[in-house]
Amino acid sequence: MTDKKIISIIVPIYNEEDNIPLLYNNLTSTLKNIGYNYEIIFINDGSTDKSSVILEEISHNDQQIRYLEFSRNFGKESATSAGLHIMRGNSAIIIDADLQHPIELIPDFIQKWEMGAEMVIGIRNKNVGESLIKKIGSSAFYTLINLMGDTKITPQATDFRLIDRKVIDEFNKFTERQRITRGILDWMGFKKDYIQFDANIRNAGKAKYGFLKKLKLTASSFVTHSMIPLKLAGYLGIFITFFSVLLGIFIIIEKYILNDPLGLKFSGIAILAVFILFLMGILLICLGLIALYIGNIQIEVTNRPLYVIKKSKNI
Ligand code: UDP
Ligand code: MG
Repeated sequence: MTDKKIISIIVPIYNEEDNIPLLYNNLTSTLKNIGYNYEIIFINDGSTDKSSVILEEISHNDQQIRYLEFSRNFGKESATSAGLHIMRGNSAIIIDADLQHPIELIPDFIQKWEMGAEMVIGIRNKNVGESLIKKIGSSAFYTLINLMGDTKITPQATDFRLIDRKVIDEFNKFTERQRITRGILDWMGFKKDYIQFDANIRNAGKAKYGFLKKLKLTASSFVTHSMIPLKLAGYLGIFITFFSVLLGIFIIIEKYILNDPLGLKFSGIAILAVFILFLMGILLICLGLIALYIGNIQIEVTNRPLYVIKKSKNI
């Protein structure tokens, strides 16, 4: 018994009261039959429904369940990070609570890991019931981030993944706060393997990541994984300056030296106004971009803990 490897299952939970019982049953029945020891770590990310009552009861009755409850909603990225911090297994599998990630694939993930992969990443084939906007949004996101970012991120790669202990030990040294867990994991390298899966429809409840929340995550992942927006402001500035100098020289020569042979009749004030407006716009764009980075620096420098634990059982 004791020399069996341990698999840690990490599940972030935010208002999933209707999914937890089924999730728990499916997870335990799958895990009981795979010939490994296991622990299931539920991280309650500040749920406001009955999730905490249900989870406390489950963890009270079942010693293989470990339970963490955050004092408020810190987001899925912090929840999965907390799970990775406390896991005790030889590898961890992160899985969503809404049963969108097929639990029956867990043995396949473990098999690839046993064959030497240090990270096994679930690749989503299609998301049944996903809106067009979401589809377009996610394909635009991956195109852009791969174009601009320092990290290559596989399109359709999900958080549904198995991670080897040694990767996790390294991951746990990361202190950055504006984190996209899978962004960091992809950045880290290691030997990867992939498993394709069809995402199920969310079992019960609503998706927690609305448009705004996704947009924020996207913006911060650009800032944390790429320096190009910052450089872009500089390139744009150089281009604009160059262009306006050329245009200025053209106007001076055309109007004042050659006495308007083309009959363009530039009025001085009009030219000035257009230029000032144009340059102001550019200036504001640059400021906006710089503000994004400064905002990020600010958060990193503050060095607040990633999450605050309110309660824990079997830890
Ligand atoms: N989740 C979380 N904290 C949040 C939002 C979501 O822990 O602030 C959990 C949620 O309970 C689920 C997983 O993250 O287990 C994925 O969330 P969701 O299904 O809403 O996202 P989507 O499927 O749209 O990516
Ligand atoms: Mg979901």
